[in-house]
Amino acid sequence: MSTLNAKEWMDQVIKQDEIDKYLIDGKDFIDDTKIKEKLNVNRCSDREYIRSIIKKSLSITTLTPDETATLLNLEDEEMWKELHAAAYEIKRRVYDNRIVFFAPLYCSNLCVNSCRYCGFRKDNEDEVRRILSMEEVEKEAEGILDSGNKRVIAVFGEHPTSDIDYICDSLKAIYKAKKPAPRSGKESYIRRVNVNAAPLSTDDLKKLMDVGIGTYQVFQETYNKEMYKYMHPAGIKSDYRWRLYALHRAMDAGIDDVAIGALFGLYDWKYEMMGLLYHAIDLENRYGIGPHTISVPRLNVAAGSSVSSDSEYLMSDEDFKKLVTIIRLSVPYTGLIVTARETPEVRESLIGSGYTQMDASSKIGIGAYSKHSDAQEKEEQQFLLGDTRTLDECVYSLAQNGIITSFCTAGYRCGRTGDKIMGLLKNCVEGKFCKLNAVLTYKEYLDDYASDKTRELGEKLIEKEMKAIREMPFYKEKNLLTTFEQYYERISQGESDIYI
Ligand code: SAM
Ligand code: SF4
Repeated sequence: MSTLNAKEWMDQVIKQDEIDKYLIDGKDFIDDTKIKEKLNVNRCSDREYIRSIIKKSLSITTLTPDETATLLNLEDEEMWKELHAAAYEIKRRVYDNRIVFFAPLYCSNLCVNSCRYCGFRKDNEDEVRRILSMEEVEKEAEGILDSGNKRVIAVFGEHPTSDIDYICDSLKAIYKAKKPAPRSGKESYIRRVNVNAAPLSTDDLKKLMDVGIGTYQVFQETYNKEMYKYMHPAGIKSDYRWRLYALHRAMDAGIDDVAIGALFGLYDWKYEMMGLLYHAIDLENRYGIGPHTISVPRLNVAAGSSVSSDSEYLMSDEDFKKLVTIIRLSVPYTGLIVTARETPEVRESLIGSGYTQMDASSKIGIGAYSKHSDAQEKEEQQFLLGDTRTLDECVYSLAQNGIITSFCTAGYRCGRTGDKIMGLLKNCVEGKFCKLNAVLTYKEYLDDYASDKTRELGEKLIEKEMKAIREMPFYKEKNLLTTFEQYYERISQGESDIYI
């Protein structure tokens, strides 16, 4: 924990030279006039042109801002059906028929910022403030392990008490947590910790790299500079560019799995989509690697925040579905996260739009996994969750839709990150490894955690997958089939955490 007081600490967080070095002629990559112009002029609805864009997406190539703006302006309902179908086809080609699960772990809700939409903002006096000790962080991770989750995103407010040393210690505590699995008693542990925290300096990001961060996630919230200023009237977060280049600094620090997002509902969703695309393109151009994931958090009601309920830009479910589809088409290689901010109905309805990650059994109160009454939890939540289903309920519902739940963390642990994973994703090879690891981790979950009903359905799905795997030439050609069958047998005999 920093020994500086809040003001002294805030004054030293932003390193101006770590913003300026990325600017070109003093400018960043979000050009308000250009975005508005692109949205204004690209209104072609010629079906053949739209189909040529779809074809490009299907070849797993990032779309241009003009092409994306064209899709954003499309009103032809018949063509929208083709877009939705193409989005799912891309998801299938790149990521196969699986969805990866994670759980959020909120470590602290102290914050020096005043984001108008967030329950943690400094001036929300109703918020009960809490920062977990390392023992408590470990206990929280154990609570998450009880649900069967293996992947965590650790979330932090921005405050001297939760500075980089605290964040690093939290990651160590999460990795340290161990819990016997309910049926077999096998030791389970968190296999990947991602981080959602305020923008950090390159030196601090190197520390995160050293403690084994998975993905570093920072949402720009809104790419529109004027709205950004309004939404972030004070605190460190009022510096738009410090945030805009957070992930560039991460890349420079060696963290090559970075995650972007915007908080949908703060401003026009079409503008935000263009912002996300320009962000992805700038990362691709500079580092040869785009975002590992794009998140689409939608504004939810937060205690004491009027913006969170009366923003004029709150998005309809229909537009939200279009957004998810367009992200899938515009940045075809990226992972796409739809969180439990959404209701079960919305998440179910979006399965066909091609998202690749979701959370379940999520609790977002500080310390909520280990103890706490529901009432206490609500006082310490950042916003209200839309989907409070258990992991087992989500796994069951996905199985009904023929989707495998994956707990795979192999890519990151085998060094398939950054440009290596990007290449594999763009060539539709990563999904093939993932298919095998998804089946292995699914089997582990079904044997150890699933309810009888989920296990029964899941086993049937595995049988179907095994058949498909045995028939695919790729696995035979690459000599993966025999290894996979052996690993599957070992998992069935009680081993765990073996991957390809
Ligand atoms: N404090 C860090 C920051 O602001 O980057 C990270 C943690 S913040 C708790 C994580 C994310 O929650 C924010 O980036 C924002 O997009 C989202 N969020 C804040 N208020 C929200 C609300 N009312 N509804 C939905 N998401 C919200
Ligand atoms: Fe603090 Fe993040 Fe909430 Fe803003 S969004 S008030 S920075 S926790």
